[in-house]
Amino acid sequence: MKALEEKILKEGKVLPGHVLKVGSFLNHQIDTPFMMEMGRYAASLFEGDKPNKIMTIEASGIAFGMAVAAALNLPLVFAKKKKSINVEDDLYSTIVHSYTHNMDYRVVVSKEILNEGDRILLVDDFLANGCALNGLMDLVEQAGGTVVGCTTAIEKGFQGGGDKLRAQGLKVESLAIIEKMDDRSLEFRK
Ligand code: 5GP
Repeated sequence: MKALEEKILKEGKVLPGHVLKVGSFLNHQIDTPFMMEMGRYAASLFEGDKPNKIMTIEASGIAFGMAVAAALNLPLVFAKKKKSINVEDDLYSTIVHSYTHNMDYRVVVSKEILNEGDRILLVDDFLANGCALNGLMDLVEQAGGTVVGCTTAIEKGFQGGGDKLRAQGLKVESLAIIEKMDDRSLEFRK
């Protein structure tokens, strides 16, 4: 999505550790009309896959998830990060390694909300190594649902998570894929 690439070039800041800061429009302050435009664009790529729910992970996936869900007129489920290590019978649970915080989280979703037969489109703000999406896929599998695909706003292609998922046969559509990034330059995949 050309407009997103332009916005990243204009407003993004590259931090040490290959972290891109886009808090001016994506995950701290949200440019709401632009977010809704991204949602409509992503939704158009998955209409034919007939999802019945959109799923993301709190907190920074929720805004883009909401935009995609609204464009498809579907509910948005967000998996929650939990501090307690207690396993509870009414929750599906998995462990996700956080790229930006360099720590493991337990991530849960209620068994009442994720159901057998669900066709889930996974959404997140960023795709780096793929840990967050893999964790969400694990939750959907535990529930007996199917992942119809994944969409992320920004994929850092050089970290390989997206291409690993594509190699497994999953449909992964990112609105901008960064191929190279340092504090002086940023290149997108053609
Ligand atoms: P992954 O699980 O694919 O390794 O990383 C994706 C998750 O880490 C996303 O949920 C996102 O919140 C966070 N993340 C990864 N890379 C970046 C980045 O460069 N910038 C920001 N703001 N978040 C990132």
